[in-house]
Amino acid sequence: MNSGGIYIETYGCQMNLVDSEIVLSLLEERGYHRVEQPERAEIVLVNTCAVREHAEARAISNIARFARLKKQRAGLRVGVIGCLSRHAASELERKLPFLDWILGPDVYRKLPALLAEPPRDRPLVLTHAPADELYDDVLPARRDGINAWVTISRGCNNFCTYCVVPKARGPERNRPGDSIIREIERAVADGFVQVTLLGQNVNSYRHRELAFPDLLARAAEVEGVKRVRFLTSHPKDCSPELLRVIAEHETICPELHLPLQAGSDAVLKRMGRRYTAAKYRKLVETARAIVPELLLSTDIIVGFPGESDADFRETEALVRAISYDDAFVYRYSERPGTRAALKYEDDVPLAVKTARLMRINEIVRGSGVRRRRAQIGRRLPVLVEGASTRDPHESMGRTPAGHVVVISETRSAGEEVPVRLTALAGRTLRGEVLDSVAASVDNS
Ligand code: SF4
Repeated sequence: MNSGGIYIETYGCQMNLVDSEIVLSLLEERGYHRVEQPERAEIVLVNTCAVREHAEARAISNIARFARLKKQRAGLRVGVIGCLSRHAASELERKLPFLDWILGPDVYRKLPALLAEPPRDRPLVLTHAPADELYDDVLPARRDGINAWVTISRGCNNFCTYCVVPKARGPERNRPGDSIIREIERAVADGFVQVTLLGQNVNSYRHRELAFPDLLARAAEVEGVKRVRFLTSHPKDCSPELLRVIAEHETICPELHLPLQAGSDAVLKRMGRRYTAAKYRKLVETARAIVPELLLSTDIIVGFPGESDADFRETEALVRAISYDDAFVYRYSERPGTRAALKYEDDVPLAVKTARLMRINEIVRGSGVRRRRAQIGRRLPVLVEGASTRDPHESMGRTPAGHVVVISETRSAGEEVPVRLTALAGRTLRGEVLDSVAASVDNS
């Protein structure tokens, strides 16, 4: 057994956050323990993201700082794990020769054995492992908080033309439903009252006869779970059945993160998204009809190759018509090895991409404020997540749909508090706590 300290730094999406918890769990089993500063660690691991050029460049420059620490601390060993290891192993090897390991997302089971091996002169590169790796039996080493992220699938089969995920994380593999439910039961027993089901394309989940809507319903019925969320959904896999399951279960949060990416059919086609703008719009109408409380957010890429002014105007019009609560807007950046990089020229000037990004952000800021403001006066249960960042005497939590609310009382994380929403400050709602008699939820 080893008793060394592990410092792990995580970039990218929630899938990577869970992968870091899986790595920590595998290593804690062997006696390693987590430390919060790299200066106190024997092992430093950096869990990387390859989805965007900016995140990749930031990760590489941050990893480079550990070269100095390695010189100062004899015995320190540094590894890069995650998507970048599989997507850009030779670049990492060339740019960061001081590394000990470059390990892809499916080889983490080998870590305890690799850490016990003597140091080498060059990085050990292991990018691929059995294609069916699911870490199904590994319970992630979760930190304190109210939310347990539960990965239900790994990889993706969609091959959107701009995306590195299918290459960096491999094909889609789904965990058996029973083991997912056992993990949720365990998380609830450990005090996590909210569960978020995670997958690169969460709603395409299917394990034997069990499809995503059934799994979601089973998760919602686990005793003690207060809220169930999920991400990320692909529009082509968002069925009316799934929407009905959301509407029928009080514990399933009425929210949908539904990436649009573009509002022009020509651009959607080049992106390989497999829906049209009209189909997406119809889906949103159906979703709002079945789940009237729905909080709708999206991802949009501006400046995809060949995106003309007319194409962008279609995106702009659709975003305005849909009136999102939130959106994450990105400028297209070419990712080596993707079909888009091979087939299309990155021909939209940066200044145009930036102007388009600002335009979409402005529209969504407006609709987000309007939709939040419409919540004022409502009575809803707020699940407290902790102290407000601005004032430790106040608490921060969320409505079932996910709106952030600050209340002027100190309440414990995990407590569900009846609240009347009273005002909007920036993006945050404020609310006053009601007595229990008034706790009945306003469903207006
Ligand atoms: S659905 Fe498309 S964008 Fe999302 S991870 Fe899969 S390939 Fe990438």
